Amino acid sequence: MKGKILVIEDNEQNLYLIRYILEDCDYEVFAAMDGKEGIALAACLLPDLILLDIQLPLMDGYAVARNLRENPDLADTPIVAVTSYAMPGDKEKAMEAGCSGYIEKPINPDTFDKQVGKYLSLKRQDRREP
Ligand code: MN
Repeated sequence: MKGKILVIEDNEQNLYLIRYILEDCDYEVFAAMDGKEGIALAACLLPDLILLDIQLPLMDGYAVARNLRENPDLADTPIVAVTSYAMPGDKEKAMEAGCSGYIEKPINPDTFDKQVGKYLSLKRQDRREP
């Protein structure tokens, strides 16, 4: 196993695609379909990386990221926003909320695992993108 990845995503097709790509690359994949479930799962799994959809029911990805960062056990965990909601300023909003970076939808199956791998290899001090 290359690592545990928690995917917080409410769209079943996206979840299916992400799981398919990452399991094929030998990652262990866990899924939550809303932020509340994701926060609870993250706290008990302590994953190596969290992929976070921004448009989620109940609480949006920004609120989820802020909440995840309040847990000291998750302070160093890479949190990568995955969203098609790419309005100007969204990336900055995601970073302000505590995300380590940003992958735009639609997911590209040819490059997705490399994008994820890049964040997994980042250490705490350079967790954020340059
Ligand atoms: Mn969504």
